[in-house]
Amino acid sequence: MTLRVLLLAHPAGHSLSPAMHDAALRACGIDARYLALDVPPEGLEAAVAGLRENDVAGANVTIPHKRTVMRWLDERTDVARAVGAVNTIVPTERGLQGDNTDGDGFLRALAELDVAPAGLPTVVLGAGGAARAVVLALLRAGARVQVHNRTPARAERLVAELTGHGTLRAAGEATLERTVRSARLLVQATAAGMEGAAEGASPLPEGLLPDDGAVVDLVYRPRETPLLARALSAGLLVQNGLPMLVHQGALAFERWFGREAPVDVMRRAVEEALG
Ligand code: NAP
Repeated sequence: MTLRVLLLAHPAGHSLSPAMHDAALRACGIDARYLALDVPPEGLEAAVAGLRENDVAGANVTIPHKRTVMRWLDERTDVARAVGAVNTIVPTERGLQGDNTDGDGFLRALAELDVAPAGLPTVVLGAGGAARAVVLALLRAGARVQVHNRTPARAERLVAELTGHGTLRAAGEATLERTVRSARLLVQATAAGMEGAAEGASPLPEGLLPDDGAVVDLVYRPRETPLLARALSAGLLVQNGLPMLVHQGALAFERWFGREAPVDVMRRAVEEALG
């Protein structure tokens, strides 16, 4: 029986996951296909029911379903519950389990830069699903995190919900400049800089960067956002969102198939698909 791994998305056309996972399945000799399904919100319940078929080895979930999908799952991991979003579904003996591999994927990507988060003064820009996953992972790894968001109330809510996991504060406009300059890791987890509507948008005032350290932008389309370009010219370590994309996918693969994922194969497939 050829197995299926499904992506529940809306729209589904732009995803790099089919190229990345099909390459991994081929490299590991697993008889399975990764299929992206365009699931509008009103079709999500039926799509989740479809994951209970015997030939489904697992699933990914992305925009706009990462939060809403949780109500139809049988279990959620502690991380998925704390983040409040699911990106990976694993069929188990007890039913469908929702997990979130974004945070651990981010940490694995950070390790490629040789940045150790323990004790590190860190600023995370954004308060959406990606920011929540990254903040939780950084707190669990011992970083001291401040969160800044265009809509301050969302940053304050994130802080209130995740504060029990470590040293976490919201950074308002008044303290932003000092906070960013003294940070040694800046993580850009908003949609600003992404191809499309937010492409020209900047998540920070022009010229404001940490005095030293690393800047990670979760955006990977384009590969170099204006923020990363500025950080590079300022001599900072930089990383775009591709390594995190690959590692969150590798962690999902490991949950579905119980074996190590071929990370280099997945990275090459994503780079080729991006062109
Ligand atoms: P989301 O839940 O919709 O949150 C969007 C965030 O971006 C919010 O904080 C929002 O601020 C902010 N934002 C949107 N447009 C902005 C602008 N023009 N200027 C400043 N802030 C803006 O989205 P998400 O799922 O967290 O995704 C956020 C980013 O992470 C996206 O670029 C996505 O591609 C990327 N991502 C990458 C990976 C990876 O593996 N590399 C994984 C997940 C996500 P408000 O609260 O003020 O609206």
